[in-house]
Formats: sequence, C-alpha cells, structure tokens
Amino acid sequence: MIQMKMPGVTVYQSTLMKTTSTLIETPDCLIVVDPGWLPDEIATIRRDVEIIRHERPLYIVYTHAHFDHILGAYAFKDAIAIASRRFIETDTQVALEEVQNFNDEYYIDSPVLFPEITHIIEESETTLTIGSTKLIFFLTPGHEETHLSFVVMPMNLLMCGDYASDVEIPLIEHDSTEYLTTLELLESFIYEYEVKLLVPGHGHICDVRTDMIERLHHSYDYILGLRAGKESEWSASWQRTPFMHRLHEKNKRQVNKEHEARLARRQFD
Ligand SMILES: [Zn+2]
Repeated sequence: MIQMKMPGVTVYQSTLMKTTSTLIETPDCLIVVDPGWLPDEIATIRRDVEIIRHERPLYIVYTHAHFDHILGAYAFKDAIAIASRRFIETDTQVALEEVQNFNDEYYIDSPVLFPEITHIIEESETTLTIGSTKLIFFLTPGHEETHLSFVVMPMNLLMCGDYASDVEIPLIEHDSTEYLTTLELLESFIYEYEVKLLVPGHGHICDVRTDMIERLHHSYDYILGLRAGKESEWSASWQRTPFMHRLHEKNKRQVNKEHEARLARRQFD
C-alpha cells in the first residue's frame, strides 16, 4: 500500500506494523530503503523500480539489522547495498533465524539471506555523491546498535529509520544513553538540512518541521521518564495496546539493566 507519493519519493506502508519502505528517484539514481515485509509488497516495490529505472543505478540502504528491515534483501541482490560497519559485523544468524521463523509461521517461501553490503559506512557524516544527489549518512545507535540514518539532498529528506515514529513508543534495544544522543543528532539535522520530509521506519511521514521536533521531544521525555523510574506521558498518537505495553515493560527492563551495569562499574572503580 502506498502511504505517500510525491515527485521523487514513494513511501510504501506494509500491512504489518505500519513498516515503511521508501523508493527515492533522482535524475542520477534510484534508492530503496528497507523493503519489507510480505512477498507481494516486496514484489511491488521491485516492479516499481523497474518501471521508472531507465538504466539508472539502483542503491539499497539498510538502516539496521532488525529482521523486518532486511527480509526483502532477496529481491535486491543486484543493487548497490549500503549499511554501517556494525551492520556487517553483527551476528547475522540472529536476524536470519527471525526471518526464517517469520516465513515458517506464515508459510512464506521467500529466500532467506543476509544482505551483502558493497558500501560500508564507517563514520558519521560520510557523504556519497551520485551526480547531483548527495546522501549524507550518520551512525544513529540506541534503538539498535547497527543503526544509521541519512539525509538526501537536494531533496531535504530525512530517512531516520526506527526513530520518530508516531505510532510506537521508542524501542530501546541497544542503549538509552545512545538513544538520547541520537535524538539530539536527529533534531540538529532537521535544522541543518532544512528537512522537508521525515520518514520513520514505522508509522507516518511528517512534513511539518515543528511536528518532527515534537516527535523527537516526545521520545526524549519518554526515555528520561523511564530512566528516572517515572511513568512519563505518552504521545497521544502512540498506540495504547497490550502489545505496546509489553514493549514498554521491555524498555523498563532494559533501562534497569543499564542502571545496574552502571552501579557495578562504579563499585569496581
Ligand atoms: Zn528496528
């Protein structure tokens, strides 16, 4: 399903978890981001690429190694693939097992493979220039350790990956301190690159700058609340389902684990 289409950008929304996949078209290249989840959805994106391609190079960016962001890799083996250094050093078995389990559970026959990366992003502010298109990558761990986000110029697009969602709470599967740093970084991009369109990995795009900032601030306050042991206020748009509450409990356990690790380090010192 197409969530949003404008000249140069199509944002697809999967039936599952409001996961977005994005197709960016510039005069110089096509860029696909995190194609997922279902075989028909992935095939649609691939078909759309071929319809508009006209011999332009095809790039694919994986924002991070969570299985829902890599399971479409089989349909884009010929693309120039971009991900972070940590992405290629991650334990691929974990992600592959999750893809396999998902396929098994829903009787899906799609191939299971981990993306082969051709362009490794070693550090923040790595810029890839393709003709007049510039992709500026930033390492953005916190949600997950291999995570990167990027800006597309001159379109002023911010592909933020699994941050700034309007439907789900911040999921801290890596580190809450890094998560907060990433949120600050994302906010600075919005000003620095005069971002016109923010695309989150789950949920709806945002084209109003004050709303983008507000999303980041909601996340920030939520995490500060968790770390202070308080129930912070949830953004009105975050889903209040039993599933989301389970994720919230998981976040609490993560933050407690970090707290205990800090105490243990202090005792050791
Ligand atoms: Zn994720």
